[in-house]
Amino acid sequence: MALLGHRFFQNRWTLLGIMLFLTVGLFASSTLGWLWYADKRASAARQSSLDLLWMEQIISNKLGTQQVMLQNWALDLRPDSKQSRAEFIQRADELIKENHAILAVEIVDEQNQRLIGVPQFDERPKQLPPLSDPLVQDAIHQSRSQNSAIYSRVIEQFAPLWVLALPNSNEQHPLHRIIVTYDLNKLLTQEVPWWFVQRYDLSLVDENDKQLSPSEGGIVNHHQQSNRIDFGPSGSGLSLKTSVRTVQNFDNLLIGLAVAVLFFGILIIWLLRLLQRWIKERKAAQQALRERDVLLQHTAHLSSLAEFASGMAHELNQPLAAIANYAAAAECLIEANEIDSPKIKQAVEKMGEESRRAGKIMHSMRNLIQKSAAPHEMYSLSRLVHEAIELIEVQAKHLHIRIDLMFNMEDTQIRCDAVMLKQVLFNLMRNALDSMKTESMKNEKNKIEHPHHKLGEHPQKLCLVIERNDRQIEISVVDQGEGIQNMDKLFQAFYTTKSDGMGFGLAICRTVIENHGGKIWAENNPNGGAIFRFRLPLETEQT
Ligand code: ADP
Repeated sequence: MALLGHRFFQNRWTLLGIMLFLTVGLFASSTLGWLWYADKRASAARQSSLDLLWMEQIISNKLGTQQVMLQNWALDLRPDSKQSRAEFIQRADELIKENHAILAVEIVDEQNQRLIGVPQFDERPKQLPPLSDPLVQDAIHQSRSQNSAIYSRVIEQFAPLWVLALPNSNEQHPLHRIIVTYDLNKLLTQEVPWWFVQRYDLSLVDENDKQLSPSEGGIVNHHQQSNRIDFGPSGSGLSLKTSVRTVQNFDNLLIGLAVAVLFFGILIIWLLRLLQRWIKERKAAQQALRERDVLLQHTAHLSSLAEFASGMAHELNQPLAAIANYAAAAECLIEANEIDSPKIKQAVEKMGEESRRAGKIMHSMRNLIQKSAAPHEMYSLSRLVHEAIELIEVQAKHLHIRIDLMFNMEDTQIRCDAVMLKQVLFNLMRNALDSMKTESMKNEKNKIEHPHHKLGEHPQKLCLVIERNDRQIEISVVDQGEGIQNMDKLFQAFYTTKSDGMGFGLAICRTVIENHGGKIWAENNPNGGAIFRFRLPLETEQT
């Protein structure tokens, strides 16, 4: 599993795919998330302003209803009638009991002295503002001068208080005023339904955004999404304000979104680093491979250089040996004071001939290795074969091996690199002689060990068979040697079974024959020995 995962992450395209997928996914999800969040906020803001408007309407209606009710009760009130006063007090008492926000309902006369009121007391309770309070006095005064209901400014005393001065419609006492004291904290909490409290924090603020109610706790975070609406009499500067509690949830959502973005961002960066490392490793591997390649080419170059040098040495060996032999013969004649002998001249001529041949071999070999177009010439096949035999004849005689040439056809001209083709024939014949030499040595040994053994009594012979048909000529070198030991490696460079061999003769033969568009192969003769054959297309000679 781990291996699978490793391979999975080792694949550059898989990594790129994941990164692309994550990046697009991240972009799409964060955009969609943000749009969703913005939409939620906008609809929450819309809903909150509607809810706030509704809330303000509820409170204003309530206050308005109470106002009308109190003014009606005051209309029936005759301050000098004990029963009427008791009736007013009873009604006001019930109103206070039902509305905890109302702290007191009082009637004041022209001198702003309390005539009657609820609660009843001997000494004015401390939570009620004194009637002499300038803000209360101011409200009463304005109510008289404008003959309308006037709310005082907020009186901050234990709790934020609001004093309402209502005109008295009773014609007998037009300057009497109904004074209602509201506890604003209670007013807000009393009228707010549960679902509103769940969704919002409701507060009353003045024109300086100072929170008047609730006087403690409640509203804590003014940075939250909030709405406000004017409240109370115009010009009072009061506003009801809501802060959406559920915004906190949205904020949590936003934080969640940010965390997710961060997580995916880190994941992408991690994958990016993985990809970078992968590309780096890959580049290093490729570089190493390139360096190795340069070293694989260098070696190959050396190898072909070595092959060239070895091949050259192999092919030049014979003419050089011949030159050395002729030189030795000439030296012997000179030492024997046979300076005038025509043999010396002959030896010197032969040395010149062999050295020219060595030069030609070098030239042909260079062309062969460089694979440049060989300088082919029209050459008599018969001449070519005879010249090749001439090269090997001395060696063959020395080994008492007869060379039989079977040239049962008319001579033909072939277009070829004659020097190298002669070398091919020479190499094949020399190998044949070597093989027969080994075989005859074995036979000699046999003769000594088994004197009556008949083997080797017949002289060995090397057959050169030249045949042709319309399309090609075929030359076979048939020997009576030990036979081929390893058919597969035969034509490989450096393959040799001889102690003094270089393993290049056959490799060169194949190169030369293939260079002439021909083919060379070998087989073991069922009667003993080996047969090397090669074919050359006659098209070559026609061109
Ligand atoms: P070299 O002569 O230096 O060994 P060659 O390429 O000419 O190189 O020959 C390679 C090998 O092929 C020889 O060593 C020998 O084992 C085998 N071979 C070539 N010609 C013959 C042959 N006529 N009979 C048997 N084996 C042969």
